[in-house]
Amino acid sequence: MAKVLLKNVYKVYPGNVTAVKDVNLDIEDKEFVVLVGPSGCGKSTTLRMIAGLEEISSGELYIGDKLMNDVAPKDRDIAMVFQNYALYPHMSVYENMAFGLKLRKVPKDVIDKKVREAAKILDIEHLLDRKPKALSGGQRQRVALGRAIVREPKVFLMDEPLSNLDAKLRVQMRTEISKLHKRLNTTFIYVTHDQTEAMTMGTKIVVMKDGVIQQIAAPQDIYENP
Ligand code: ADP
Ligand code: ADP
Repeated sequence: MAKVLLKNVYKVYPGNVTAVKDVNLDIEDKEFVVLVGPSGCGKSTTLRMIAGLEEISSGELYIGDKLMNDVAPKDRDIAMVFQNYALYPHMSVYENMAFGLKLRKVPKDVIDKKVREAAKILDIEHLLDRKPKALSGGQRQRVALGRAIVREPKVFLMDEPLSNLDAKLRVQMRTEISKLHKRLNTTFIYVTHDQTEAMTMGTKIVVMKDGVIQQIAAPQDIYENP
């Protein structure tokens, strides 16, 4: 179903930088997979290839049973949450959350229902009229999550979504994103360089180094074999 499969995936950037080397990854439906490793190890590139934001140099990507290599991002049934939130500054929270559905010509009453449901889940109902600049970092991150939720994607992709938050909020949002995963009951693929974040959130941890997957294990097994 919402299975994600990477087969012998490589990414070579212009200038002959091989960012991802022969990555093989089999992600089951409803897993919370965390890609972890030091800066520059190819986590973000891997995620962006799944999202379709970066072309795959060679190898195959499947989402569900469908080969996705040449499928546009909007047709991949994924939603991505970025580190910098990527909210539209001139739009209200409501409009930010509704925008993607509007583009897809979803009826207004359906959009309204989805936006309000997502806002309720994320506890941002009282912020719907605000502009992003009038929000705290944590609130902005919730809006970014809300924008992903309303699309009801099969797969959620998150690239260091908590790294701009202060330590206390980061710990709180970890718990909330884990809860969100349980509640939505769908596949999450989450990138972080933070070991603790990886261990506390993932059901499966993928350790990368220099563009290569070093280890794939459940969090308790990573503890045993550091
Ligand atoms: P991470 O997310 O683990 O920090 P990245 O996937 O961002 O790692 O980067 C992996 C490698 O690819 C790094 O060496 C980085 O410098 C390089 N890289 C990333 N994006 C580009 C790009 N657009 N052009 C050239 N090299 C890039
Ligand atoms: P448009 O200007 O695109 O026609 P409207 O402003 O008329 O859109 O809004 C359509 C629906 O969206 C309204 O019924 C309302 O429920 C909802 N809506 C729009 N903006 C907000 C907002 N800031 N807060 C709460 N609901 C909103």
